[in-house]
Amino acid sequence: MHNAKLLPHYLVQRFHGWKATTYSENESWYRRLADNGQNPRAMVVSCCDSRVHVTSIFGADNGEFFLHRNIANLVPPYKPDGAQHGTSAAVEYAVKALKVAHIIVLGHSSCGGVEGCLNMCTGRAPELEEKTSFVGRWMDILRPGYENIKDMPEAEQPAALEKEAVLVSLNNLMTFPFVADDVKSGKITLHGLWHDIGEGAIEQYSPEDNGFKPV
Ligand SMILES: [Zn+2]
Repeated sequence: MHNAKLLPHYLVQRFHGWKATTYSENESWYRRLADNGQNPRAMVVSCCDSRVHVTSIFGADNGEFFLHRNIANLVPPYKPDGAQHGTSAAVEYAVKALKVAHIIVLGHSSCGGVEGCLNMCTGRAPELEEKTSFVGRWMDILRPGYENIKDMPEAEQPAALEKEAVLVSLNNLMTFPFVADDVKSGKITLHGLWHDIGEGAIEQYSPEDNGFKPV
């Protein structure tokens, strides 16, 4: 016996609502999706944050995005050490098996993971420095980004570090040989976005400006 319980009633009700409306009105489309397999054009790496609604922002349907979410939308550096790397596995599958044309890294405002990294880097979160902190060790990926923003006014640092999380991830994507090869041959393009939740806005990294500009 496994340690799990039945779903709470409100979720069961919502599921049956979806089945009776969205699914039943589009049943043949769902069956086609199931039969044909997935063929998404883009992989999106976003934060786990419940307010970041990737498919809603882009009006995306089932099958359009290969979506990977983790704390602070980070891609770690390429490290083929035989350990278990969830994000790297998702990148490998998207590129090698699904042959996506785009990889989009989507950061966001008031990111708790980035705030934790900022607190850790400024000595305000000793618990995150401990070896046993999964969040802390994961946020180590963003430490090089902190070096770029540490001299900014304090009020600007959270948003700046959220954007650094996107840039660090874009840099780390290029350390994967199969990503770098496909970027160089033009098979894949990388994109960096930052989503302001309250404003409903998106900024994108512009290589000409070497900074983020409103979409
Ligand atoms: Zn976040």
